[in-house]
Amino acid sequence: MLVLLVLVAGIAWTVGATDGEADPVAGSTTSSVPAQAELPSAGVVVVPPGGVAINDSPAGAVLQTVGAGLVLPYAVVDDEWLEVTTTCDEPAWLRADDVDVSGQADPGVAGPGFDLASAVVVIDPGHGGPWPGAVGPTGLSEKIPNLDIADRVRALLGTGHDIDWSTGEIALGGTYPPVASVFMTRDPDAVENGDFEAKLGYRAAVADAAGADALVSIHNNTVPKGSRSSPGTQVFHSVGAAGSDRLGTLLHQEVHDALAVFDVAWSGLADLGARGYTDAQGGDYFTVLSGGTPAAIVEGMYLSEPEEEALLREPSVRQAYAEGVYRGLVRFLTTNDWGTDPLPTIPWPGASPGSPSADGCVVPSAG
Ligand SMILES: [Zn+2]
Repeated sequence: MLVLLVLVAGIAWTVGATDGEADPVAGSTTSSVPAQAELPSAGVVVVPPGGVAINDSPAGAVLQTVGAGLVLPYAVVDDEWLEVTTTCDEPAWLRADDVDVSGQADPGVAGPGFDLASAVVVIDPGHGGPWPGAVGPTGLSEKIPNLDIADRVRALLGTGHDIDWSTGEIALGGTYPPVASVFMTRDPDAVENGDFEAKLGYRAAVADAAGADALVSIHNNTVPKGSRSSPGTQVFHSVGAAGSDRLGTLLHQEVHDALAVFDVAWSGLADLGARGYTDAQGGDYFTVLSGGTPAAIVEGMYLSEPEEEALLREPSVRQAYAEGVYRGLVRFLTTNDWGTDPLPTIPWPGASPGSPSADGCVVPSAG
């Protein structure tokens, strides 16, 4: 009954919004939040089919109707209204009753005894929309394999598996149960098939608001410094969020080893491994890693090189990359292992980041 009352009040408040299209499935899901006073104080929302209106203030002017499948973090509640961060890293308000609300989880302590079935993981496919990332010699945009690899990681995390740690082989089984939740900052099942701009601050905010146990950003690299006998996988880990260095080394080892089965002329830097980079103030150089969630960026291979670009077009190679990320996450969450090749944290040696400006960023609209 309380749910019904909230819904009626909401209709009165948002004339002209999408209430007429209210999705009964979404409504029943959000009924786990029985009253506005009990809304979790932070969390993430998922926009249901049909989209949802976002407003400039609680019950204020409608800014637009944003598209289905967007994952929006929130950390402020005002009655039944949530202040979310849009994909353009701007504040906006929406009604909790119009969306699926997942309250902020309590992150567990990674290590032996961690309950994998309780884990919340955020997978972040790098770039998107007008920002292709690296572009290969025959025109493959990095944002495309990044999204597919991330989706494969999500599928792995969503199913129970056994892992043969001597070979790395992953099979359906019960040793490692499905995690509780996986959120993707760009979701191929979402509006625009997940191909939209997502600002770096937004990406970090999703992980923190979800109370995620880990955030992994999926990338591929450009402009190597030389040839190598094995993949030039690089990992950048957060310097501020505890556990990120261990996560980074595990991701480095597992992704490198997963890709090493492919026999091509590999490229990369001499001092590969997992490293943190600080900015001028000693904080995280990479904005996506600057939240409180254990986090790392994986640069699997060099899209700028013809042979590696060709590999990145192959579903089997994307699957191998994803399986490496999955094994790295499982080891991070359920063991005290460290991976190979930890490198000392150093100041970023280059100029300040050429982060895309907020100007021109568009939150994908419904329809
Ligand atoms: Zn990238």
